Amino acid sequence: PVRRREVVHLMNKNLPRRVVDTLRELGKVGDGLELPVFAIGGFARDLLLGGKNDDIDITVEGDGILFAETFAATHECRVKSHAKFGTAVIVLPDGFKIDVASTRLEFYETPGALPTVERSSLKMDLYRRDFTINTLAIQLNTANFGLLIDYFGAYRDLRDKVIRVLHNLSFVEDPTRVFRAVRFEQRLGFQIARHTENLIRNAVKMGFLDKLGGRRLLNELVIILREREPVRAILRMESLGLLGFIHPDLALETENLRVLDEVKKVVTWFELLYQSDQVETWVVYFLALTSLLPDDAFFEMCTRLSVSEHYREKLIDMRVHGEQMLALMERKVAGKKPVQRSNIYFWLRGLSPEVLLYIMAKTRHDEVRKFVSLYVTQLRGVTCSFTGEDLKVIGLPPGPRYREILDAVLSARLNGEVSTREEESRLVRQMLGSV
Ligand code: ATP
Repeated sequence: PVRRREVVHLMNKNLPRRVVDTLRELGKVGDGLELPVFAIGGFARDLLLGGKNDDIDITVEGDGILFAETFAATHECRVKSHAKFGTAVIVLPDGFKIDVASTRLEFYETPGALPTVERSSLKMDLYRRDFTINTLAIQLNTANFGLLIDYFGAYRDLRDKVIRVLHNLSFVEDPTRVFRAVRFEQRLGFQIARHTENLIRNAVKMGFLDKLGGRRLLNELVIILREREPVRAILRMESLGLLGFIHPDLALETENLRVLDEVKKVVTWFELLYQSDQVETWVVYFLALTSLLPDDAFFEMCTRLSVSEHYREKLIDMRVHGEQMLALMERKVAGKKPVQRSNIYFWLRGLSPEVLLYIMAKTRHDEVRKFVSLYVTQLRGVTCSFTGEDLKVIGLPPGPRYREILDAVLSARLNGEVSTREEESRLVRQMLGSV
């Protein structure tokens, strides 16, 4: 139903010029080698949805490595090939990467003739994919540039906003697809088709998901928690009975749902102020999702998910310190004693942005939230001009006194008691005089 002209129009409208040019170049190299070349998967899906996707996945009906190497040789690109899988990555001079795969060559014998390449190898290849919406292919060869190939009703499902598997054994074949279904459904605002949902429920009931390795499960979970709206996906996982595979005691209760909703707010706030690479947002969601698990269950879950020992310790540390600091600040607020800026600074100094955001999401006290926000936006950047070097020049012998003095100067700075280098020096002299 979608004409070539419309696909080319979508490309020109939604993709940067150089990407469209590159697609045409890929097609020309295919022409020269007489190989059909296609852009497939998420790229084709997102193009038709009117969005953009910079991950270009190419499938070549034939030898994809030969194709990639020929392209690289004529376009000053680097190429990394994996002969065993028939795949290659082309790296353009500006670092842009293109993944290339080969369809498996399938031969059939015709009586008395040489073996002939099975022409439907692209179809076979697409049949191995997770959902219909990921099975579109767009041909790139010049004569057919923009031709949409839709073997499995992908276009219809994109139009109807439906996530549908290609066959009944899909989730048995690969249980990670259960989580992928939720992710695509929530990200695209689609609906898992009724029969597909039944297959998921069946896979859950029959224990097929038990076979899913911890690493792969963790990987899917992290990808979900990195989405823009993880809370909806978490709710959906809950409704499909998937949270129990992360840990049998993991459930959504009013309390961690409240915290998860708050995480969304504080993460949005933080990302408006700072570069999003300053915080691993999935970690904040993960801490919130699992906040009601007792320590031993949390430990078990990390083992189940094959979290590395190093990372597990880090997560446990975040949990413990986050809770401790939260409790301490809430006590201080309840005690109604005045809190100085330097207090806030030294309470929060050692905590990562992930833990700070977790505390902001979890607390029910506005004042505690304000403490953390004050720390994040102002206090953590405060430094004093007086340094350890200066103490050395004065002749103070190295030792723990250094830290004490420098912290005292920093406190004074934070509380506005000193604001110039001279005032800092005076303060240091007073302190040394009192030794
Ligand atoms: P995005 O990168 O935007 O999340 P994508 O569709 O590109 O979406 P990837 O995870 O990069 O997703 O996968 C690339 C393609 O490989 C998908 O379009 C999908 O068809 C296929 N694929 C990935 N994982 C599986 C799987 N477990 N089973 C079958 N096909 C898969």
